[in-house]
Amino acid sequence: MTQGHAEPTLNWDALTDEAVELLSAYLRVDTVNPPGNESRAADWLADILDREGIPQERYDPGDGRETLVARLPGDGSRGKPLILLNHTDVVPFERSHWTEDPLGGAIKDGFIWGRGAIDMKGMGIMELISFVLHRRHNLPLRRELIFMAVADEEAGSAYGVEFLARAHPELLDCDFVINEGGSGSSETLGKQRPVMSIGVSEKGPLWLTLRARGRPGHGSVPHDDNAADRLVRALQRIQDWERPLMPAPEVREYFAQLHAAGILDAEPTDAVLERIAHEHPRYQSVQSNSISLTQLNAGVKHNVIPAEASATLDIRLVPGYDPDEFLDQITRVIADERVAIEQVFTSSTPPSRLDTELYAVMTQAAKSAIEDVVVVPGVSTGFTDSRVFRRLGVPAYGFVPWLLGPDEQGRAHGNDERVSIENLRLGMQILHTAVRGICS
Ligand SMILES: [Zn+2]
Repeated sequence: MTQGHAEPTLNWDALTDEAVELLSAYLRVDTVNPPGNESRAADWLADILDREGIPQERYDPGDGRETLVARLPGDGSRGKPLILLNHTDVVPFERSHWTEDPLGGAIKDGFIWGRGAIDMKGMGIMELISFVLHRRHNLPLRRELIFMAVADEEAGSAYGVEFLARAHPELLDCDFVINEGGSGSSETLGKQRPVMSIGVSEKGPLWLTLRARGRPGHGSVPHDDNAADRLVRALQRIQDWERPLMPAPEVREYFAQLHAAGILDAEPTDAVLERIAHEHPRYQSVQSNSISLTQLNAGVKHNVIPAEASATLDIRLVPGYDPDEFLDQITRVIADERVAIEQVFTSSTPPSRLDTELYAVMTQAAKSAIEDVVVVPGVSTGFTDSRVFRRLGVPAYGFVPWLLGPDEQGRAHGNDERVSIENLRLGMQILHTAVRGICS
């Protein structure tokens, strides 16, 4: 509550026009990672913040990959800062599969087009607008508000939030983080009903490389120590390995709330969760330890038996699953000590709680703006920078509060990524309401 300060009436039509222009321009800033070049985004954001009279700091890990942090002081009476977190890099694209230039920021048919519109420059602009509104209107802050635009999320964050955690840990000291990793949808399980998912948890990546070694030789004389054969046998055993569904408490809560809202007709028993997993690959993944075979490498020539063969596995463990336990299991499944297992990247983090003040504030903000919306906790199959905060015990939430429709969904990392102007407006309004709710 605002203790006597009335919130100013905001002109959301004008703010939407401003946000559309900003997002279009931001999408034209090339921060495709690799190589990233996120200092370009930091420069671009710094110009805007300068115009608003807001100072910034830059953190430079080298190679043109700066992170930008801007702060608006609060009186601290409600606690430590709220961080509005966004990453400035985007993933590469295949130009020939796009209708519009992925780096063009086209505004067409009610949408803003470009790589990063959804993931996550659109949210970056929504956070920026709420942030600068505080300065323009001198909105009272009872905790510090931080705008943090980080590099390198799409390639593992070594130059981004992991760099900050290592070199500037004081920057991560806060009460709450709002980030990507949860958003709204106009349709769920075949039902046309707005559902807003607040990201509270994510699966833990366990990226492995399998490396088989054998004896090279002439392709005309097969022998039983072919590295490629050995690898194929190991991969076959992994493919045949049946793993049970293990829905985390947050996943059960998600389905229970969908059932309570009438979106999931059946009681979410184990059998029903299993049926849903069968029908939807995403729900299968979210409930189980998943393995995708992503790269295979072997051989130098058509008629040479290779001495080495390797495969990369993108494994994602259900939240809370012990990576060492899984490593033991997969070692037993492979059952071949001449297939070496190398651990490339592992992360396992606890969920953010559902009973915090911010979770309630975000729920209320969504409900106040969208009639009939169902707000549920979400578990993401992918990982985000939230993991670094959750690791530190800081509640971090995925809350990109727009309602993606069929034209926008599934386009993050895909072709013709775009977001509607209507959604940009909706998301901006809800986000700002939530920020005021936790900071004023
Ligand atoms: Zn992202």
